[in-house]
Amino acid sequence: MLNQDTARALVAALSPANDAQQPAQALTFDAFRAANVARCLKWHPEGLESWSPSDWLTAVTGELGELASLLKMRNRERDGLPGNKFSPTDKQVADELADVLTYLDLLAATLGVDLGRAAAQKFNEVSERVGFPDRIDLRVKLNDEAPSNAAHWHKVAMDARAGVEDLQREVARLKVENARLAEETMRLQGLLNAAHQIVGELARPSGI
Ligand SMILES: [Mg+2]
Repeated sequence: MLNQDTARALVAALSPANDAQQPAQALTFDAFRAANVARCLKWHPEGLESWSPSDWLTAVTGELGELASLLKMRNRERDGLPGNKFSPTDKQVADELADVLTYLDLLAATLGVDLGRAAAQKFNEVSERVGFPDRIDLRVKLNDEAPSNAAHWHKVAMDARAGVEDLQREVARLKVENARLAEETMRLQGLLNAAHQIVGELARPSGI
């Protein structure tokens, strides 16, 4: 049920970041999108389109606001001003940046935008315009015929969910089978115990 790309994306998303058994791999936009959409469908089982682009944009700006609030606190600390309820940690700042990216990716998915490809293309366009040599090589990606719209990622996520449902059904089936085997084992053990008892009785000398 799961195709290989989906399975790889899910494994990448679920694997511990510092697993010493696995070679280090950079997170790709595609892997992030697959995991992001798959998880999002747990909140929005009717599809990402149940929220409009402006709904997703509101979520993006909400997270930007949370990030801005943390940086505002740092500005106060820098300037020696009172008013902070706590001192923002690097982890808290990174978390809000990650929240922004997560919602931005969902907004892009809803709009049918491949965020990595769009970012690289625009990067190259700006470099070209201002005369800088910096470029991101998109030849492989641009020649890749893999679809990049929201429908594609919705299908990837639905495939993943179908795979999970298959596993859930298999687990349920094995639990029933396990219970049946346990019951059968107990029945046969009872018969075996009775057989041992009968054999013991028969082996005992009669009349003594
Ligand atoms: Mg947040």
